[in-house]
Amino acid sequence: MELIFEKGAEGRHLSILPSCDAEQVEFGEFSRQTELRLPQVSENELSRHYTQLAERSYGVNNGFYPLGSCTMKYNPKVNEEAASFDGFTHIHPLQPEHTAQGCLEVFRLAEEALCEITGMDAMTFQPAAGAHGEFTGLLLIKAYHEKRGDSRRKKIIVPDSAHGTNPASAAMAGFEIVNIPSAPDGCVDLESLHKAVGEDTAGLMLTNPNTIGLFDKNILEITRIVHEAGGLNYYDGANLNAVMGLVRPGDMGFDVVHLNLHKTFSTPHGGGGPGSGPVGCKDFLEQFLPGKQVCGEDRLVSEKPDCSVGSVKAFNGNFLVVVKALAYILTLGNDGIQEASQNAVLNANYMAKKLEHIYDLPYGSHCMHEFVMSLEKLKQETKVSAMDVAKGLLDYGIHPPTMYFPLIVHEALMVEPTETESRETLDHAVKVFEKLWEQARQDGEKLHHAPVHAAVGRPDEVRAARQPVLRYQDSQTGK
Ligand SMILES: *Cc1c(COP(=O)(O)O)cnc(C)c1O
Repeated sequence: MELIFEKGAEGRHLSILPSCDAEQVEFGEFSRQTELRLPQVSENELSRHYTQLAERSYGVNNGFYPLGSCTMKYNPKVNEEAASFDGFTHIHPLQPEHTAQGCLEVFRLAEEALCEITGMDAMTFQPAAGAHGEFTGLLLIKAYHEKRGDSRRKKIIVPDSAHGTNPASAAMAGFEIVNIPSAPDGCVDLESLHKAVGEDTAGLMLTNPNTIGLFDKNILEITRIVHEAGGLNYYDGANLNAVMGLVRPGDMGFDVVHLNLHKTFSTPHGGGGPGSGPVGCKDFLEQFLPGKQVCGEDRLVSEKPDCSVGSVKAFNGNFLVVVKALAYILTLGNDGIQEASQNAVLNANYMAKKLEHIYDLPYGSHCMHEFVMSLEKLKQETKVSAMDVAKGLLDYGIHPPTMYFPLIVHEALMVEPTETESRETLDHAVKVFEKLWEQARQDGEKLHHAPVHAAVGRPDEVRAARQPVLRYQDSQTGK
């Protein structure tokens, strides 16, 4: 597809408006030295260009998007409306605090609500993403041990069913990673955990539900073992839509948790941001939080905690995402928050149950908000891989699930229907999965060439990652 700069012609522009009759001012030495190169297109060309671009992308507004672990759900538009109010958008982080009391109140109310939901005592909104929250949470754990003068604690235990970002964040925060395996039931292997903990344990990071969509049944035992060894417990709460309003990390022995507002709390996810990965902690860690915390009674102010780890982002993080989260929580209320989680779990179990007669579910069909299928057997029998089925879905207007993750399942497809899909949508998706399974048995060759109806077929993914072409070459100038 051509860029907008390659369309149109010299001198073409929006012609229906009268020309500018305001006085022209010369800026002298401050004016630009070279001509500003702008697209020269008619309104019609402009409109078609962006419509074509929109048609080439696929989002939750187009259809079903069961991308496991990513929670691609529908976000009520009213929350966008709330975030667009002038009072929230026409502000500056450096203006005097007494002129931004409403915004500080948003932080305070959001902190209160999310602490209530997670069972934590304080929260920072600085981190801009889930992984950024993990890094921040680990800095709190590090600061805690350092302040106590316990310099031996350099290891973070990460089960193999953790989200991929967990070990990466721990390494970035300067920890050594101790990987422990899952037991055959998909939960943390307690014996390995017992062996792994010791005087060098800084903490454990648990993704719960884990990446195979299971709530670890030994969770209380796990946090107890780590605490007894002197470590702290970190809860990866990016997928809180499986449990919110039902159980709280703070009640299960966790000291730190991060949330993904851009998954669970009504900010669209996947468009490249902005996101928000707030970190909640128990009161003994509050002194280490980054940035400033809102406090005060009648007049709200924000203050840097005593032993703050510093700043992990400018000012208060992505404020408008917090506004959307607060609007979402207030409109749903106590019951609605609970119901959202119950529906997320119900929808995943409904689909898993309907598909288990043809697709292998290595950990059974009883899951939380997502489930993982293994297409290993199908591939052995028909040569049709998880990749082929994922590509096949595109021809039916369905976005593929997460593929080849988690790594502990071969030929994995990880399906997260989310709470906002109707039964009709789920039934339709099940039919498509069934059709693809039949197609694999009858004419597998065809599926190797799918998709045939999508704008882009099968790009060379390895080359795209290893030799990315990050600059577009203009067809006119060759630059
Ligand atoms: C998405 C996700 C993350 C990472 O969040 P980002 O905002 O993409 O950095 C971490 N953990 C889990 C379980 C997730 O699903």
